Amino acid sequence: MTEKYRTVLLFGAPGAGKGTQGTMLGSIPGFHHFSTGEMFRNLDPYSDTGKTFREYSVRGELVPDELTVDLWRECMQAQWTLGIYHPFSELLVLDGIPRNVRQTELMAEHVDVLGIVLLQATDQKLMLDRLRGRALKEGRADDAQEAVIKRRLQIFEETTAPLLAEYPCDIVHRVDAIGSPAMVLKRVLEAVTPIQEAAFSNALR
Ligand code: ADP
Repeated sequence: MTEKYRTVLLFGAPGAGKGTQGTMLGSIPGFHHFSTGEMFRNLDPYSDTGKTFREYSVRGELVPDELTVDLWRECMQAQWTLGIYHPFSELLVLDGIPRNVRQTELMAEHVDVLGIVLLQATDQKLMLDRLRGRALKEGRADDAQEAVIKRRLQIFEETTAPLLAEYPCDIVHRVDAIGSPAMVLKRVLEAVTPIQEAAFSNALR
C-alpha cells in the first residue's frame, strides 16, 4: 500500500479499558478496531509464533518488536485483501501497538497517526479489579498473577507512556476511563468522531 493507514491510537495502562472501548468503536461504521493482544491470543498455541507469544506473555513481557510489527503488518494486509478492513473508508483504531519507540519507527511508513486517545484511570485498585475479573471471565493467564500484572503495568509506565512525547500534543486526547462503558464511549467518540469525519470527508457513505 503506497498510502498510509489513517489511524487513531488507543493508549492506556492494562485494565484501563482499551479492549472494551476498541471493540465498541469497531462496531460503528467508519471505524476498524485492531488489537495486537487479540492477534496474539488468536494464534495457534502450537505454532512457532504462538509458542513465542506464550513464552513472553506469561512473564508479562512484550513480544520482540520485529516479530510483532511483521505479524501486525501481515494481518492488516490480509484483512484488507479479505475485505474485513477498508482503508479508504475506515479509520483504523489501533489497540496495543505501538508499545515502544522501536515499534513506532518500524510502523512509521505504514500509519498516519491522526489522533491518540489516552484512557486515563487514576484508580489503580479499580484497574487491578478489572484485570482480576478478566482473568476469571476470559481465562487469561497473564491476568491471573499479581507479579505478571505488576510487570505489565511497569512496562506501560516505563516504555509505552513516554511514547506520547513523540507526537504533537494537539493530537493527544486524554479521556477519563472511569465510568460505565457507555459513558466512556461517549467521551471517546467526542474525541474521535471529528477525526474520522475529517479523514474521510470524501468517502462514500
Ligand atoms: P494489556 O494491555 O492488558 O497488557 P494486551 O491484550 O494488549 O494486554 O496484550 C497482551 C500481551 O500480548 C502483552 O503482555 C504482550 O506480551 C503481547 N503484546 C500485545 N501487543 C504487543 C506489542 N505491540 N508488542 C509486543 N507485545 C505485545
